[in-house]
Amino acid sequence: MKLLIIGPPASGKGTQAEKIAENFELEHISTGDIFRKINDEEISQHLASGKLLPDELVFKAVKEKLDEKENFILDGYPRNVNQAKMLDKFLEERNSKIDYIIYLKVSEETIIKRMTSRRTCKECGKTYNLITSPPPEENKCECGGKLIQREDDKEEVVRDRVKIFKKITQPVIDHYINKLIAVDGELSIDEVYEKIVELLNNQS
Ligand code: AMP
Repeated sequence: MKLLIIGPPASGKGTQAEKIAENFELEHISTGDIFRKINDEEISQHLASGKLLPDELVFKAVKEKLDEKENFILDGYPRNVNQAKMLDKFLEERNSKIDYIIYLKVSEETIIKRMTSRRTCKECGKTYNLITSPPPEENKCECGGKLIQREDDKEEVVRDRVKIFKKITQPVIDHYINKLIAVDGELSIDEVYEKIVELLNNQS
C-alpha cells in the first residue's frame, strides 16, 4: 500500500504516520525528519523560517528513500501540486500509483495551541506536548536529552506555516480528490488513529 498523509503543522501527521506504518507494515518516510537530520547551515535556516525547500532538492531526497519500495507512507510530501506531479510521474514509470491520501483536518486555533506547547528532544527528536503528553521530567526527554522549542514551532513562524499550508499545500488534496480519506484531526490521538484504520480497512 502506498499512502500519503497531509495536514497543517501540528495536525498530528507524524504521530499518526508512525502508528499507521507500524500497523500496516509500511516504511515511514518523513521529509521534515530527513532535512532536520542534515547538518547544513542553509537548510537549517530554511527550516527555522518555516518556508518550503526547493522542489528538486526535496524530490531527490524522496526518490532515494522510496527506491523500489512497495509499501510506504509519505509524511510531509508532496507539499505542493508540482511535487505531487513529480511523485505521480516517478510512480507511473514503475507502473505504480498512490492508493490513498489521508487528510487530517484541524482548525487554526488548535494548531497555534498545540504548536506553542510542543517540545522536541535535542538528542533523539522525540516530541512531547506540555498539555497532552508531558515529558517524564521537566524539560527532559525519556532518553535524558534536553527538550527545546523548535524554531519553526514559535507562534509567528507557525502562523506563516499555516498560510503556506492553505495557499500552497491544500491544492494537493484536490489533486488526489478521488483517493481522499479525510479525518477530523481535532479528536484524540487514539480516536484519529482508529478512524483512519477503520476507513482504510473499509476501502478494500
Ligand atoms: P515538517 O516536519 O513536515 O513540518 O517539515 C518541516 C520543514 O521541512 C518544512 O517547514 C519545510 O521547510 C521542510 N520540508 C519538509 N517537507 C517538505 C517538502 N515536501 N517540500 C518542501 N519543504 C519541505
